[in-house]
Amino acid sequence: MKVRNPRTGETDYAIEPLGVAAVTAATKRLRTNQPAWAAMPIAERCTIMLRWADAMEKHAGAIIEQLTIDTGRAGIAAIEVGGVPGTIRRWAALAPDIIAQQSPCEIQSANPTVVNSTRLVPFPLFGAIAPWNFPMTLSTIDAIPALFAGCAALVKPSEITPRFVEPLKASIAEVPELAKVLEIIVGDAETGQALVANVDYVCFTGSVATGRKVAVAAAEAFIPANLELGGKDPMIILASADPVEAAKTALRASILATGQACQSIERLYVARAIYDQFLETLVTEAEKVRLNYPDINEGEIGPFIFAPQGHKIDEQITEAKAKGARILTGGTVEILGGGTYLRPTVIADATPDMAIIRDESFGPVLPVIAFDSIDDAIAQANDSIYGLSAAVIAGTTQEAEAVGVKLEAGAISINDGSMTAMVWDAENSSFKMSGMGPSRMGESGLTRFFRKQALIRQTGTPARIQDFAEENFAGDKGQ
Ligand code: NAD
Repeated sequence: MKVRNPRTGETDYAIEPLGVAAVTAATKRLRTNQPAWAAMPIAERCTIMLRWADAMEKHAGAIIEQLTIDTGRAGIAAIEVGGVPGTIRRWAALAPDIIAQQSPCEIQSANPTVVNSTRLVPFPLFGAIAPWNFPMTLSTIDAIPALFAGCAALVKPSEITPRFVEPLKASIAEVPELAKVLEIIVGDAETGQALVANVDYVCFTGSVATGRKVAVAAAEAFIPANLELGGKDPMIILASADPVEAAKTALRASILATGQACQSIERLYVARAIYDQFLETLVTEAEKVRLNYPDINEGEIGPFIFAPQGHKIDEQITEAKAKGARILTGGTVEILGGGTYLRPTVIADATPDMAIIRDESFGPVLPVIAFDSIDDAIAQANDSIYGLSAAVIAGTTQEAEAVGVKLEAGAISINDGSMTAMVWDAENSSFKMSGMGPSRMGESGLTRFFRKQALIRQTGTPARIQDFAEENFAGDKGQ
């Protein structure tokens, strides 16, 4: 299977997608090794995981190099690779206490002769399916806590961005105990389907369309499907906000990583009193933003990793213009050196019926709608199939929060935007079609991988069948 280079447009890499038989063989090996991994004291698993963090740092140069080619961006590749050892160390610091707290023992039951305790039993085999927008982060974000929990892990990154897998695997090979229970595989939809059919818990990050297929397959297999899907995040900017600062925040929250982030701000609702000043600043600041072309080490915006995304947004912009929207800056998809680029695109006079307001864009577009009443802004923000996250900017925290709690989304940035990209300790659920299942953030990121097993200890005489004889209940039966 040929893989395209997002900067040159050339297919300069290839993968051999793992077929059903190979996936099944991998899962068999992981299942064989998992019980010993789960039986280790958590402190021992922490030590092994910390050795992986060190090994990853040793291999960071090679991973960054390949991830840079995969994604066409250098700085974010370095941030992604640099962040994962930190994630491992954070979980190593947290996991022992969380596991201890969740494993109560010797609890007196309501029944006086019974004492209970609860054991955490990890799902044996965890599977992750990841998208192309943050390949390293999203391939490891769920697998790391699953491994701390004692699961074995099978991970399938996107076939659009597979180059970083080889050097990442080299870091795993340095920790033989971990290599027994963690496998990263390359492949496409078919490989993903085989993964879902073979694991005990699946975390899927990707589009709503594929997420639905994964949910159906998981339901057939009776396994939990934890889905992290798309979004169309709104930002509401109230009249009390500083329009200049709000515009700068909105720009960053919308176009970082070329807008290829699930939590990117993709719709802006601005109080009419500050609409003109907000737009003026937004355009001025947007025009300062540079492409990272031709020099990958300069600028803020990279190429689309997946070129068809650029064409999809092009269609959204064309439709918006036809329906009366005004493109104040940007708006033209450019092919430069074989890569597909779009400069930050500010769209005024957008209306709720436009695809650019309704459908996920996944690019650096900022459609802006003016509002006269806050209730109307809230209603428009909530008028979406998505409910991933949202943002409110106001003059005070209280004012922003009063609006934020009325938004139907799982994470609300108050006086900032897209904060879930940077804040990982706040538990949040994906509302509506943006996902399903427990939060990957906060403690639940770890505890979701355990089933609870109660040990119910009888210290007295067990009940006998005669205790349940019909005649014993004559009074209860009204006789
Ligand atoms: P996608 O749904 O096309 O693919 C995601 C993964 O699913 C890939 O690894 C792919 O090979 C695999 N796959 C495809 N068909 C499959 C099937 N039938 N069974 C199992 N696996 C299958 O998504 P994408 O285009 O790679 O990523 C972009 C999408 O991801 C956007 O919608 C974005 O919003 C979303 N996303 C969500 C989050 C989040 O945390 N909520 C984070 C990042 C991206």
